[in-house]
Amino acid sequence: MTTNTESKDLVGRGNRDGAELFRQWFNELNQTANEGGQCAYVFVMGSINEILKAFDLPVVFPEINSLQTAVRRVAHEYLGEAEDYGYSPDICGYVKADVAVQLRHGEHPMGNIPQPSLAVLTNACNTYIKWAEIWQRMYDVPVVTIDIPGTREAGGQTWQGNEHFDADRRYVQAQLEELITICEQVTGKKFDIDKLREVMKQANTVSTCWNKVLDLNRSRPSVFSALTDGTIYLGVANGFRGTEAGARYFQQLVEEMEYKAAHGIGTITDEIYRLVFVGVPCYPIFRRFNEMFTEWGGTFVHSTYLWFASGGANRGFEYDLKRPIESLAEGVLITVRDAMDSMFHQDYALDAMIDDYHVDGIVYHPIKSCRTVSTGLADVRQHVAKKHDVASLFVESDMMDRRVVTEAPMKNRIDAFFEGLASRRQQALLK
Ligand code: SF4
Repeated sequence: MTTNTESKDLVGRGNRDGAELFRQWFNELNQTANEGGQCAYVFVMGSINEILKAFDLPVVFPEINSLQTAVRRVAHEYLGEAEDYGYSPDICGYVKADVAVQLRHGEHPMGNIPQPSLAVLTNACNTYIKWAEIWQRMYDVPVVTIDIPGTREAGGQTWQGNEHFDADRRYVQAQLEELITICEQVTGKKFDIDKLREVMKQANTVSTCWNKVLDLNRSRPSVFSALTDGTIYLGVANGFRGTEAGARYFQQLVEEMEYKAAHGIGTITDEIYRLVFVGVPCYPIFRRFNEMFTEWGGTFVHSTYLWFASGGANRGFEYDLKRPIESLAEGVLITVRDAMDSMFHQDYALDAMIDDYHVDGIVYHPIKSCRTVSTGLADVRQHVAKKHDVASLFVESDMMDRRVVTEAPMKNRIDAFFEGLASRRQQALLK
């Protein structure tokens, strides 16, 4: 038996609390910037937040800062400034928005962004490497690039106990140990392994709960939109990984999603078509883009973005706290490798989603300024179409640049896609 008050408190709590945590996070960054404190610049695919949090270093995710300029509809100002400074209109829009933030001495719509004391990145995207070089030139700070061995062949991921996995794990571990030494030099603090254990314990809760939340969207109707709500959860999963606040948020999110699933409360009132989104969202018209689908009763039940942009946390990997450094290296190897696989071979991720989530259609969203995620998507579409009898839509735009986002033609394509889905469904009923 449920009460209206119970439902009111629970339903939508993840979005409300997520927005509040975001405000707190940016307030902390603003304060750090104003006081000239230290912070680390990191990326979503392999932030190594566990080590940084063990040194109490606030983390800045420039990718998240950049997408926030698009959501707040001012990205064009930042992109324009970076292009005037000399960056090509062609390159990753996140880089350009961040360059403009740096040129403005940290000025951002959500508050001031502090300058980096250190940058940590992985090889998950080639752009990360060139991007960090910009900060190195601007601020002369240490840049630590963690080289993560990828999957060597299709379906060939190796695991604990395999000699190749163990060699890769040792390789990652040695790099993490170097990062710890650099953190000691930068912060002047001694590394505390018990503090790392505590951070890893909180990170375990975030990962296992994130994995459960994703699983819970198999229910009919789906309990959250992978495109809109999912992006809020993803932000918390990245920014608050390893913190008590992050762990509590995700435990409560599981509670909310279980409640919605048990009571048949969907993300929209009338779910007709279940969709999967492939690529990076269209942030310049973030809400409107989603509405063009929900107006037809389409809900996004999953996305490849929720895999790769969570840095592989979707795996639900749990660290063994009895051997923290070794286990951290295993976790970083497994999750970042998985993030790379779900980005470069989005067909594997789709194979795992289509039947499990009862998918009616796939929406491919290749974008101008992220080639890493968009290259080969047309081939992926063809490949998936041969294996699965699922309708698909290919709609091109951008994650940042409103000059290449044209709503009217996009809507025409989306409307035609739904007309096709309706006719498919009718034909299936006649069989
Ligand atoms: S994955 Fe795409 S959006 Fe992210 S840094 Fe690389 S090029 Fe930019």
